Amino acid sequence: MESRWKGIRPKYLLVGILITFFITCLISTLPFSTEECKCPGDSEGLQKDSNNVPKPLRKSQHRLAVLVPFRDRFEELLTFAPYMKRFLDKQNIDYRIFILHQVDRFRFNRASLVNVGFLHVKNEFDYIAMHDVDLLPLNDNLSYGYPDTPFHVSAPDLHPRYHYSTFIGGILLIKRDHFIQVNGMSNKYWGWGLEDDEFYVRLKEANLVVRRPQNISTGTQNTFRHIHDKNHRKRDTTKCFNQREVTRKRDRETGLDNVSYKILEVINITISDSQLTILNIELSCDKTLTPWCECIKTNEIKDKKIVGENKKTAL
Ligand code: UDP
Ligand code: MN
Repeated sequence: MESRWKGIRPKYLLVGILITFFITCLISTLPFSTEECKCPGDSEGLQKDSNNVPKPLRKSQHRLAVLVPFRDRFEELLTFAPYMKRFLDKQNIDYRIFILHQVDRFRFNRASLVNVGFLHVKNEFDYIAMHDVDLLPLNDNLSYGYPDTPFHVSAPDLHPRYHYSTFIGGILLIKRDHFIQVNGMSNKYWGWGLEDDEFYVRLKEANLVVRRPQNISTGTQNTFRHIHDKNHRKRDTTKCFNQREVTRKRDRETGLDNVSYKILEVINITISDSQLTILNIELSCDKTLTPWCECIKTNEIKDKKIVGENKKTAL
């Protein structure tokens, strides 16, 4: 035994060690691993739909940002978030929901919030849905797929409340390039209404045809659920200064390129199993251009004067 070990020369030992070392190095550079692959998309490929049919391996190559203008509608949000997750997952849409939370003290400005949301997502998402928080699509045939031309999901013949032919509010899908092409939405609409009608004119002037869902078997009463109690969620229809006349006209001055705002916080939250991003948005108001971003009621003005006068007498 001893004589056999003695026969092995140290130089062969060295060669053996070197060969082992090189083989180890070679293996570690090969493009495979013994660890289980946790590549994104794999688990989605294994998911099955309600009929136990496997979903396609890959989601859509397009990414949808669902932009939800929001203030004081928490109850609606609690229903909206998990519902929309189920609805969009069924269609295999690659999406994220953004809650555009207006935190300043001006009147609600749905259109400016959409502009801000768009600027925030435009590098990562190639189409958006402007989406009311209180409108839930009930019919699975309402497609949220990538729209070659603006696609109005909550069409006038399907929406529970608005039935005029140029209506494009509620839920509208539009791709990035088209939203940029029309310079987004007007920033002049503080308070409820008309911002969507003004946007319709922008699309029309740009020759962008608005498409709507076809061959939908449901109607105005059962295509959407509108979670909106008109007494509990009063619409802010006040008009002050020259708001009425200005907001009836097409706005060529404001839009995506001059919306003035700050994003104070970006918060990721989960409601049930639905992941959302909340943007806390502080809008600015140029009172020389849109003094109606604050409408002070006549009584309040009187009160202010009285307080002011009292002050004077006190001095
Ligand atoms: N909204 C909000 N807070 C408000 C007013 C409006 O969050 O104080 C948002 C919300 O997404 C809502 C959408 O703007 O669904 C449209 O407003 P609203 O429901 O009042 O209008 P409708 O379409 O019912 O006339
Ligand atoms: Mn509503």
